[in-house]
Amino acid sequence: MNHLSFRKHRAEAHHAVAALGRAARLCRAVSADLSDAGARAKDDRSPVTLADYGSQAVVCAALAEAFPGDPVVAEESAAALREQRASPLARRLEALVATELGSDTRLEQVLGWIDHGSGRATPAGRFWTLDPIDGTKGFLRGGHYAIALGLIEEGQVVFAALACPRLEGTAGPGALLLAARGEGAVELPLFGEGPARPVRVSSCATPAEARLCESVERAHSHHGHAARVVEMMGIGGASVRIDSQAKYAAVARGDAEIYLRLPTRADYQERIWDHAAGMLVVEEAGGRVSDVAGRPLDFSRGATLAANRGVVATCGPLHEALIETLGRVLDD
Ligand code: AMP
Ligand code: MG
Repeated sequence: MNHLSFRKHRAEAHHAVAALGRAARLCRAVSADLSDAGARAKDDRSPVTLADYGSQAVVCAALAEAFPGDPVVAEESAAALREQRASPLARRLEALVATELGSDTRLEQVLGWIDHGSGRATPAGRFWTLDPIDGTKGFLRGGHYAIALGLIEEGQVVFAALACPRLEGTAGPGALLLAARGEGAVELPLFGEGPARPVRVSSCATPAEARLCESVERAHSHHGHAARVVEMMGIGGASVRIDSQAKYAAVARGDAEIYLRLPTRADYQERIWDHAAGMLVVEEAGGRVSDVAGRPLDFSRGATLAANRGVVATCGPLHEALIETLGRVLDD
């Protein structure tokens, strides 16, 4: 099976592989010297770098060309960059994107591609959602990050591409996971050539052997509540903290059995670009994904998962018991 064997989303797979490869190369070029990544804080105090902007520009450029009618709902906006067009940061961004898209690339086009990603999430319709760098904090720390692209039709994620540049892949560093609804999930090398291999979750059904992954950032997932779940269920495998949707990739590939994302505040709504790609990859690898109450993730509510709280992804057999245990832990 290779990614071109996806029947319904063959063109999407073809363009996503090319676009995410370019975006990942751009991110890798920036990460070669992180002191020069142009990191700054956005209004919500989360960081954004040249690589976030560059990645969004190259992926949106590809989507705009291949699927001109499709809106793209992406994390970043070019508004701040438009106010500093002559800055060294803007010039460096132009050069980075030009390396991937051709030397005649101009800053104005780059800004336009970034803002191509400010489309609206429509409940009835088809649109893409993109996190150009998921886990920017991880990226800046030298940890994991992901470039996450999902296609949503009528509120359902139907195709996903998840690039994890610092995850060990089938042919060296860099894994690219693809999934199409009802057609399975595959992994290919993110950098360079190699065959696509099917991706399957672990078959582990025993808590004592189950491995858990969660966010590095304690503001993004409640570590204390996760520790109580681990104790109550006797989860005994090696637990790891990793940034970004690389956690979904870990569950999909069978490197971990459980991913817990437990709310740290009552008012936070998960963003669709933080979950669309990861969720489909895990489901198509044979696993299960829900919120902490066991509800399916609802992608028909706009740019956030407004009907859900937190996320639980597992290889399957432990899912019900986890939700039941979470019910007790989160009620306390
Ligand atoms: P992770 O790498 O798993 O820690 O997740 C990174 C993502 O967490 C970012 O893309 C943010 O969109 C998201 N995020 C920001 N604040 C919160 C929060 N309070 N709870 C959950 N996720 C958050
Ligand atoms: Mg993100």
